[in-house]
Order: sequence, then structure tokens, then C-alpha cells
Amino acid sequence: MKILVINSGSSSIKYKLFDMEKNQTDASGLMERIGEKKGLLTHKIRNKKGDRSVNVIKCTVSNHKEGLEFIANLLADSKNGVIRNKSEITAVGHRVVHGGETFQKTTVINDKVIEAINKNTPLAPLHNPPNLAGIDVAKIIFPKSIQVAVFDTAFHHSMPEKAYIYALPYELYEKKRVRRYGFHGTSHAYISDAAAKYMGGSPENFSLITIHLGNGASMAAVKNGKSIDTTMGMTPLEGLVMGSRSGDIDPAIPFYLADYLGMSFAEIDVLLNKKSGLKGICGSNDMREVIEKKNNHNSKATLALDIYTYRIKKYIGAYFAAMGSLDAVVFTAGIGENSADVRELSCHGLKALGIELDSHKNSMSFDNIMEISTKNSPVKILVVPTNEELKIAMETMEMICTGYYKTQT
Ligand code: AMP
Repeated sequence: MKILVINSGSSSIKYKLFDMEKNQTDASGLMERIGEKKGLLTHKIRNKKGDRSVNVIKCTVSNHKEGLEFIANLLADSKNGVIRNKSEITAVGHRVVHGGETFQKTTVINDKVIEAINKNTPLAPLHNPPNLAGIDVAKIIFPKSIQVAVFDTAFHHSMPEKAYIYALPYELYEKKRVRRYGFHGTSHAYISDAAAKYMGGSPENFSLITIHLGNGASMAAVKNGKSIDTTMGMTPLEGLVMGSRSGDIDPAIPFYLADYLGMSFAEIDVLLNKKSGLKGICGSNDMREVIEKKNNHNSKATLALDIYTYRIKKYIGAYFAAMGSLDAVVFTAGIGENSADVRELSCHGLKALGIELDSHKNSMSFDNIMEISTKNSPVKILVVPTNEELKIAMETMEMICTGYYKTQT
């Protein structure tokens, strides 16, 4: 069974084609700068001999439909394609950022689902519209394929009220659904499963703190396989310090900025989402640059890294308290998988909680699951490469195998 996973952004389409029986990725890629003259597609395939090849193709496409058509034609190309024709793709799994309260799990897409995703747009105005654009064009280009939506928010629906209700007038929740939702759910779910498997059990047997550190960053407390708390809130701005997002701040700061600096809401929005975080403190939002600057004794970069890892450490303590037990701390995503410095600083001084990092193991390179805690550490520290696309493909396949789509469409 071939499943195509699509992550459609405002000017990009990221995709991965899986052969689920063979347990392999046949093709993957990223089309960038849709709507611009200098469009670019990085297309990777696994050829018939099993070798991988990468093609960087210049392409000018004016919208998502042209973009996905271009990709579909490459996939089905008679010479270098990986499928004979488009109908070979049984299903298309779409990443949808905000499912609000409507979608608590993966869903087969029909007109009602599209309408409901649209209704959730005010909660994710930058993300849901391009996700919907991807769904619209996939329906046209792959008319025979089942379309499935996998939501970033779904995994966190297990949070109890005490974790998701803000201490605001309750009617704001009742009438306007102002509450904490959480994001990166597909990644937190994937790494909890993988970590549990590594430890020889299923997620129901463990208490885990999962730490997704990419451009966006979030943590989750996953007890017995269920997310009971997470750092992102109604939007992805809450919680950890990120590349250019502030994470937690005193909610009165925007009033101060408006009243005393005369900033508009739009300016404050840009300030908190695009000019804060690591970038706001030391001028770089890329962790590699931050670490390089720190190694060159740049005091702002040192401070940025301290603030970044101090916030992670505080949430580790908080989530240990929330769960009452802890079996493993699990790092993932661009920074979590690659930065030994960030892992070391985040776990430093947590011996009292049973969290002891082995610096030697932590500094080694690897491309699979890695245990970086000391032999005697009561709590394991793991690095687990995330694979959100594979998780989306697996959820999509489950919909098909259980025949659930027949009852939904
Ligand atoms: P992601 O959103 O998961 O692609 O992660 C992007 C982040 O990973 C960026 O901040 C990168 O700087 C960071 N990153 C990637 N490779 C490394 C590395 N070797 N060391 C530190 N950070 C890295």
C-alpha cells in the first residue's frame, strides 16, 4: 500500500511517499517558494536498485495546485518515477495543525471535515489555510485516493481540564473555546511509542517527558501513553523559548508595549513570534549559530543558551511533579537530536530527580535511538529521531485497515 504524506505550508509543500508493506520511503521532497519566480524543488527518490538519488529542480509554479501536479508527475514519471500512475496511491495523509476541540483523533476527510477545519482557522490563521489548500488540491490530483487528516493537536486531547483550562472567565472557554490545545502531537506520540518500544514495553507502562526541540519547541508529560500536559497552549507561542518565539512571558507585557511604547497588536504579534526567543536575545534563531557564537565567548549567545535550557529544566521538574513518576526523558527534532550542549545543559543538576547524563555517550554521534544516561541513572535519557511523516502514514493506514473510512465518507 502506497501512502503519500503531505505537509502543505503557506509557500511550500513537503511530501513523503511510503510503501507500507515494504516498510520503506520511496520518495520525499520539499517544494519551496510557491508563487515566486525562483521556485525550488528538492526531490529524493529510491530507485529500482534501492539506491537513493537527490534532484534539485528549479520550478516556477504559481499555486499549490500547480505545485502538487508537478510533484505527482515526477512521482509517476515513466523513466524516473516510483509509481506507475497516480491511482497507485491508496491514501493521502495530510498534516493539519489545529483541530481545535472538534478533532480528537485522525479523521477521513469529507466536506463536513473541511468545513470544520475551516472553522478552526481563527485558532491557527497561519497554518490551517495552507493545510486546507493542500487538501483541496490533493482531492483534485488524486481523486481515487482516500484523504485523511492527522492533527497536531489531537494527541493532547487527553489532557485533564486542570491542565488545559486557563484561569480566565470560564465563559471564554465555553463560548469561544479559549483553552490550551498543545501542538507537535504527532511527534510526541511517535517518540513516546519508539521510546517505550526501546525500553521493552508499550507506552501504557511508562511515564515519559518528551522534548521536541526544533525551530518550534515543546515538551509533553506522557503518562501511560497519554499526554497529560504540554508546554504549548492555545497557540504555539506558549511554553519553551524557541528560535524566534518568546514562549512563556508575563501576559501584562503586551499592555506595557502598547501603552508605553505605542506598539500596535500586529507589531506585538510580530515581536513575540518572529523577533523574540534565541533571536531576540542574541540575534540568531539557528541553534548552530548560537552555539558557535557561545564558543567564541559571545555573552549574549551564552545567555540565550542558558535561558533556553533553564526553561527546559524547569519544565522537566514540573512534569515530573505532574506525573508523580518518571521513567525517561526523551529528546528529539533538529536541536534535540543534534545538540549535545543543549541536552547536557538541560539535564545538568537533576541528579536529585534521578536524571544523570553520561557526557561521553551524549557527545557521540548516532542516527538511531541512543541512550545517553549513565548506567545507574534511575531515569533514562534517550535521544529518539522523530518521524512525523511516518506517524501520519501509520495513522492513515490504520484508518484504511480498520475500514473506518467506509463509515465516515
Ligand atoms: P527542525 O525544526 O526540527 O528542523 O530543527 C531546526 C533546528 O535544529 C535549528 O535551530 C537548527 O539550528 C537546529 N540544528 C540542526 N542541526 C543542528 C546541530 N548539529 N547542532 C545544533 N542545532 C542543530
